[in-house]
Amino acid sequence: MLDAATLKNDFPILQQTVHDDVPLVYLDSAASAQKPQSVIDALSRIDSTVYANVHRGAHWLSDTSTALYEESREAIAAFIKAQKSHEVIFTTGTTGAINTVARSWGDANISAGDEILLTRLEHHSNIIPWQQLSERTGATIRWCDITEDGQLDLDDFESLLSERTKIVACTMASNVLGTYTPAKRITQLAHDAGAVVVLDAAQAVPHKSVDVTDLDADFIAFSAHKMLGPSGVGILYGKETLLEAMPPFLGGGSMIDVVSEEGFTTASLPAKFEAGTPAITPVLAFPSCIDYLRQVGMENIQQHEHALASYAHEQLEALGTINILGPHPDAKAGVVSFTVDNLHPHDLTHALDNQGVAIRAGHHCAMPLHRRLGISASARASFYVYNTREDVDKLIQAIAKAIELFS
Ligand code: PMP
Repeated sequence: MLDAATLKNDFPILQQTVHDDVPLVYLDSAASAQKPQSVIDALSRIDSTVYANVHRGAHWLSDTSTALYEESREAIAAFIKAQKSHEVIFTTGTTGAINTVARSWGDANISAGDEILLTRLEHHSNIIPWQQLSERTGATIRWCDITEDGQLDLDDFESLLSERTKIVACTMASNVLGTYTPAKRITQLAHDAGAVVVLDAAQAVPHKSVDVTDLDADFIAFSAHKMLGPSGVGILYGKETLLEAMPPFLGGGSMIDVVSEEGFTTASLPAKFEAGTPAITPVLAFPSCIDYLRQVGMENIQQHEHALASYAHEQLEALGTINILGPHPDAKAGVVSFTVDNLHPHDLTHALDNQGVAIRAGHHCAMPLHRRLGISASARASFYVYNTREDVDKLIQAIAKAIELFS
């Protein structure tokens, strides 16, 4: 088991008080996780010792940063159990990764009459790129529904799959309901129908062990800033055969082999998809996040979040006027979204913030999901390695106080 109270000491930002003198309780890791001292140190060490542009220079600093850049790629490939490190592409984040697939694979393979299958659990990052693709090509978007308890409706999924389905874009874990989707089964079913699968793993890779080879994943997207790392870098994992066949999306430095007045030839993988100067320091620091997560253990992290989510469910239910959204904690990540009778999520969040408790309110970039749930907004508490049962207690006390205040 994981000792969250001890781990919390590794996170300087969590040691402070806010609003003058209120201790901070950070329950917004689904938006962005905080960084342990080891990652902060790695970022600073990189900038003070090895920083230089990568794949360009002919000097020691550039050679060193280039070597570390490629080591980072290898560390990430090993973390998600990719067969080849050049199947790991550095992007700006999950959003950048999904847009790359939609623009590159999508424009080359999708045409009018084809279908793109999405689910109602998706974040806007896994909706808009497909809507834009549909606008460009005339392809139709189909929506897989959820069950009443907020799980993916597999029967509906199967009924929507057909020979017209060319791409399935599905989250591995909902950022609102926390629902884990059966990603392996979805991938199998989609492959049987001849479709390619894009898995949005932004809320999965930071919280559980993800094995892209076992999943037989075609494309997977995730972001460093949700896994204790810096913002500005994310990953597109793609199967070598798919990436090889895809045209580059962004054009510029690094992604070419030869350029002439007449045109250009593209570099091989992974450079083909990494045009321009990348987020050098964040990429070089990425392995320090993985080291930290590995040391804590992905199994331990998943169990810990499950325990916190279960405890939060119990305590919220005991308050009485709370509607918890989504499935039983057994079927989900450490995300608990809810509404409170007669109290708008924004008013609630504001009242909680005054008590030092940081949660999120709104549609969480998932408007179709909220519409499906019949609400326009919700409040969301999300947990990570540094959250304790005491944090949940403080959340519950703060909600009780807010309810009293507004009643
Ligand atoms: N998908 C999901 C499920 C997410 O939670 C998020 C971040 N909230 C994203 C995609 C987008 O990630 P990013 O902003 O890092 O590109």
